[in-house]
Amino acid sequence: MKASKLKFLETAKRTGLFDLARRRSSTGVRILNYHGIWTGSDPYAGDSMFFTDTGFTRRLELIRAWGYPVVSLGDAIDHLSGQKAIPPNAVVITIDDGWYSSYKDMFPKLHQHGMPFTLYCDTGHLYTPGVIPHVAAMYFKILANQRNDQSERNIALERPLKSVATDRSRSYAERLDATEKLAKLLGFDFTRYMADKTFHYMSPSELVEAASNPDVSIELHTHNHTLRDWSRNAIEQEIALNRAALADLLKRPPTSFKHFCYPSGAYTPEAAEIIKSLGIKSATTTNQGIATVGTSLLMLPRLCDNEMLTEIEFEAELSGFADWMRLSRTVVPNSKAQSIGTTRSAFCLA
Ligand SMILES: [Zn+2]
Repeated sequence: MKASKLKFLETAKRTGLFDLARRRSSTGVRILNYHGIWTGSDPYAGDSMFFTDTGFTRRLELIRAWGYPVVSLGDAIDHLSGQKAIPPNAVVITIDDGWYSSYKDMFPKLHQHGMPFTLYCDTGHLYTPGVIPHVAAMYFKILANQRNDQSERNIALERPLKSVATDRSRSYAERLDATEKLAKLLGFDFTRYMADKTFHYMSPSELVEAASNPDVSIELHTHNHTLRDWSRNAIEQEIALNRAALADLLKRPPTSFKHFCYPSGAYTPEAAEIIKSLGIKSATTTNQGIATVGTSLLMLPRLCDNEMLTEIEFEAELSGFADWMRLSRTVVPNSKAQSIGTTRSAFCLA
């Protein structure tokens, strides 16, 4: 199935359909979405949450080689609002959360290419002194599952440890302890993961240092990585806490943070209206697609890049050809059109 899809894309590219799609979508904005880099001591092929270092490096080279100009999120939003001209086929790079590996491994590469980018930062985890337990526990399970040694697993012991690690009503010490025990039970060197900071956020001072570069913009992602019960009160509180924390760190007025990313991509039209009433100009989702003039600025699609996408699939996304294929499936539900852009749904688990 995958092979036939890739063959179809190669044919589409060879016959000029990628070029045509690119020309037709030239006024659209390709808002790319990333999270962190895999720095674990165990091999991992990468996904939308943790790209491999080589995979992410290659993506930036391709964006440059294919001639897609990278602009800031602010300029792109002004363009989508009809207030500013930007180069055709513009790309915006967004990074969610605030992983230590984003700071250490992604930011320098983006700076080397002179590419501006936006970090949507949920501020609560910035003050977590170590591993983010629920994400670490999930990845230790993923790593164990890919080893194919299920016969040696003790699921009865794993389950309660994972349950404690992911229960955010428990204390951090309890969750960290359960995560460490789970890692040891599954045979992973937890000490190395701690040393490599694979599941750490960057520190507040690292965020401040990163933000001092004019190519870096820091924006909103809630304080606790949730909009909780979708009530106005909860949404207002999460945004207020997020703004206050960033304002305190970056010495800016709280209302100067005007761009938002929905945690885990979850949103409702009602939440978008509340977000707008708080003076927020744009909000991004994990809906796959190119943002065009006329798209709601409070429910913007992105291209959620992930390591499972081959280069030809990535090019199909950037060119706009993948959007055509998604549209053909919407307009003609039983269409035999090849499926493109079936990206693994974006992890945004923090
Ligand atoms: Zn997130």
